[in-house]
Amino acid sequence: MTQPAQIGLIGLGTMGAMLALNIAEKGFPIAVWNRTTSVTHGFKAEAGALADRITPTETLADLVAAIKPPRAIILMVPAGEAVDQQIAALRPLMDKDDLIIDAGNALFHDTNRRAEEAARLGPHFLGIGVSGGEEGARHGPAIMGGGLRADWDRVAPVLTAIAAKYKGEACAAYMGPAGAGHFVKAVHNGIEYADMQMIAEVYGVMRDGLGMEAEAIAKTFEGWNQGPLQSYLIEISAEVARATDSHSGKPMLDMILDRAGQKGTGRWTVIEAQHLAATIPAIEAAVMARNLSSRLEERLKGEALFGAAPQPTTQVTLDQLEQAMIAGKILCYAQGFALISAAAKAFDWAMPLPEIARVWREGCIIRSSMLNDMATALTEDPARNLMLAPFFADHLKSSHGALRAVVAAAAISGLPVPALASGLAWFDMMRTGRSTANMIQAQRDFFGAHGFERIDGLDDKHGPWAGHGI
Ligand code: NDP
Repeated sequence: MTQPAQIGLIGLGTMGAMLALNIAEKGFPIAVWNRTTSVTHGFKAEAGALADRITPTETLADLVAAIKPPRAIILMVPAGEAVDQQIAALRPLMDKDDLIIDAGNALFHDTNRRAEEAARLGPHFLGIGVSGGEEGARHGPAIMGGGLRADWDRVAPVLTAIAAKYKGEACAAYMGPAGAGHFVKAVHNGIEYADMQMIAEVYGVMRDGLGMEAEAIAKTFEGWNQGPLQSYLIEISAEVARATDSHSGKPMLDMILDRAGQKGTGRWTVIEAQHLAATIPAIEAAVMARNLSSRLEERLKGEALFGAAPQPTTQVTLDQLEQAMIAGKILCYAQGFALISAAAKAFDWAMPLPEIARVWREGCIIRSSMLNDMATALTEDPARNLMLAPFFADHLKSSHGALRAVVAAAAISGLPVPALASGLAWFDMMRTGRSTANMIQAQRDFFGAHGFERIDGLDDKHGPWAGHGI
């Protein structure tokens, strides 16, 4: 007999179905509803040994009635309008003390708005970021929660039970009020974009610069996965480089069109960084590269007109490439965490930076051994930029020369490495005490009489060009 449900879930798509099975497997009876009813019944029919813990429902009223109060219902539907529609449909059916949890990839501004509406109209509302794709949802995702602390605590037993575990520690944590969880998830995705882009860039240097075959590239990634770069993304990059296409017998990678897709979370991260005046150039470069990748026709015209950019190089070693990746990765994460710090300040959200690094150590797409060291560095001093933490400063001191060599050789040989190059430029700017912004200030004063500060502290804000402005 089916057990009374402790929690509900709406949206049995890729993520929702896997989350529901994960919840049931951890011992929590669950009621489910899907817009297309046949999917709901099919889900129960295929749940095997877990079917006893699953209550399929055909209407939202049945769903609500199937859950023990105070109720909690997870939404796993596409971000945007679908979430608002479901909340509007559930509101009259649920009690004020019940809880709706949006576990999709919502824009955090929407989550802020929904949290505010929930405070006025009920029921309670949590926005949680879930990372790890289908596999993570089924066997343990990373979970980043936002909303009222008491609401998080109410469902924490379920969320920590289903989350990934790093040495027994659950990769699920409360990130702060309202949209804080979805904000952290968006930054996670931004970092994911940059990490993937940098891997694609070193792949390009190996393929087009060093003329390496896919198998040799796979072996290189495999080797890197035994060192400081150990991570899910390097691991799967080795696997995809090794895979063979069953149709042509060629390396699978060689048969895949170089037009990268995106769902927009990287773009949101970049837009928000601009609003917050946070500097995340490696992530911006990664979003730019995805956008540019889709302009295949234009790229082909460019190649026909100017000749193919990528040329072979003998100026880069595999060891330098690995070191460049290490430096690039540290810089990209330093940018991501600095963005979270900026948001915490601007929105007055006490976001737990070390906890964020800990939550990302398992379950999510950017999981990597380096995140454990980042958690340690952020525990020592959450306000300090990661690149200044002694552990990562030491890494950067020994690896930024290789990053420079790789970026320089790539530039000379026409091998595009935008994320690595912008990471390097950021690093160089971050260690330049006397920058060139004095020229910007002079120009601004010249044409707009904007004034400047002097290095000697004198109160003379304008240059001798006063009166030249337009
Ligand atoms: P899918 O497209 O696989 O599933 C979408 C689900 O939502 C289906 O059950 C669908 O029902 C339902 N749905 C669609 N539109 C509506 C609507 N207007 N009202 C009610 N139900 C609706 O999506 P995913 O599972 O991949 O993604 C769900 C959420 O999770 C998204 O926000 C996504 O960004 C996020 N996410 C996805 C990840 C992934 O790797 N796929 C990773 C992390 C987060 P029906 O069967 O009737 O079509």
